[in-house]
Amino acid sequence: GNQPRVEVNVLLLGAHSVGKSALTVRFLTRRFIGEYGDIGEETHGHGLFVGLNQSELFVSLMTMCDSVPESVYSRVDRIDAQDVCFNVWDSPYTQDDGKSLSLPDKQLQWADGIVLVYSICDRRSFHVVRQQLQLIRRSRKPSSVPVVVVGNKLDLHCHRSVSSEEGRLLALSQHCGFYEVSAAETYEDVLLVFQRLVHLIRESRALR
Ligand code: GDP
Ligand code: MG
Repeated sequence: GNQPRVEVNVLLLGAHSVGKSALTVRFLTRRFIGEYGDIGEETHGHGLFVGLNQSELFVSLMTMCDSVPESVYSRVDRIDAQDVCFNVWDSPYTQDDGKSLSLPDKQLQWADGIVLVYSICDRRSFHVVRQQLQLIRRSRKPSSVPVVVVGNKLDLHCHRSVSSEEGRLLALSQHCGFYEVSAAETYEDVLLVFQRLVHLIRESRALR
């Protein structure tokens, strides 16, 4: 039968430039916005946003603009006969300068589930995910907040510097989901990430 609608708060974390915003925009609008420029005629003149309706354009621009401090966007999806309202927080916050890594407590407490993103072409971003995973496991109560680890930019596999096995091992060792995706090329794989997260969140809620 039909189940009542649920809300899930999804936080995206990872190093700079791994594609957190691209994944968010892909999930919310089903499109890939590769680059973005200043809002204005020049941008439209380049045809970057052709095909986006106004609200999609707004989401894309706001999400991809790193100077917007906080922005949460929502989308309702039907998963296993249940309406799921995704609230996605693509924070421009990244701290991957190798120094004191920390995570914003407010965002961690808000999140029902976390998508931890690295680029398969960027080893440093993989180490950032490893560190962030440790911080998440230490700082959250209950410490079992569902996490899906995502290796993005699969379309650039010829420049790969993190193997699938490494990614999968890290994810499995911390009881996380794991996917390699290309925000640039495949919507379906990106959708799988969010669906998996919902399954993990459901499991963790059932245990409470
Ligand atoms: P963020 O800093 O993590 O939010 O990263 P962005 O979403 O702004 O993406 C950083 C850069 O990587 C941009 O130039 C994107 O076009 C590019 N990018 C994002 N995802 C992909 C992908 O799946 N494949 C490729 N080739 N480029 C991507
Ligand atoms: Mg971003």
